Amino acid sequence: MKYALVTGGGKGIGRAVCLKLAELGYSIVINYNSSEQAAQEVLETIVAGGGSASLLRFDVSDNMQVSEALKKWREENNDGYIEVLVNNAGVRDDNLMLWMEPESWHKVIGVSLDGMFHVTRLLIKDMLVKRYGRVINIVSLSGIKGLPGQTNYSAAKGGVIAATKALAQEVAKKGVTVNAVAPGFINTDMTKDLDQVTLKQQIPAGRFGTPEEVASLVGFLASGDSSYITGEVISINGGLYT
Ligand code: NAP
Repeated sequence: MKYALVTGGGKGIGRAVCLKLAELGYSIVINYNSSEQAAQEVLETIVAGGGSASLLRFDVSDNMQVSEALKKWREENNDGYIEVLVNNAGVRDDNLMLWMEPESWHKVIGVSLDGMFHVTRLLIKDMLVKRYGRVINIVSLSGIKGLPGQTNYSAAKGGVIAATKALAQEVAKKGVTVNAVAPGFINTDMTKDLDQVTLKQQIPAGRFGTPEEVASLVGFLASGDSSYITGEVISINGGLYT
């Protein structure tokens, strides 16, 4: 059995990635933190389509929870290893730095940057031993360009981008690739409070992207066809940033 773990797999981009990787033949380990019902619905959709999936709850920002959940998963699944990891979990908590409280700074960095570290460090060993693996980090335009009102989020995603490039070089010889996908504006819960009419005018494609469009790119990076691409940050933003 070939396994893929998607953090924050119950909703939005994570949900679409789970469905795409299931289509590619992976048994999906759907991580969620609070959205149990949504994650269960993703599982049922995969199973109804003839695929295989399981749920794994943990808060990616909590190292203890991540360690315990992944240790238990490993004990219960001796028939394989997680060969594709999609670090997708993320949160926004926007404010100008002038008004930003430390809690908001640490929360956003805790989920995206610390979360990526907590999960990846535990799964990379199996990938190295098996000489095959894919780590795909969902970052953001904000982590490349920096967006006002998002110093916490830009720092978190920028940190993940730098870690992606460093880790890619650590593991390249062992057949493990590490890449980042940087979406612009995608239609999910995370962007539902934004002023779409105004923002769309700034996007050359004239619209927000869909989670499925991001999932297609992740699917390619997860496949064997992408084996010579590593340490890259691939933007998917309708031409918003070049
Ligand atoms: P979303 O629908 O709000 O989904 C966020 C996901 O992150 C949820 O599944 C959530 O799971 C999970 N999550 C949050 N905190 C978590 C934690 N502590 N532990 C585990 N999971 C956690 O937003 P989305 O747009 O799909 O976001 C997915 C990723 O894409 C994020 O990394 C985001 O930064 C990135 N991104 C999004 C856009 C966009 O325009 N939408 C653009 C660029 C980058 P629970 O609900 O179970 O907590």
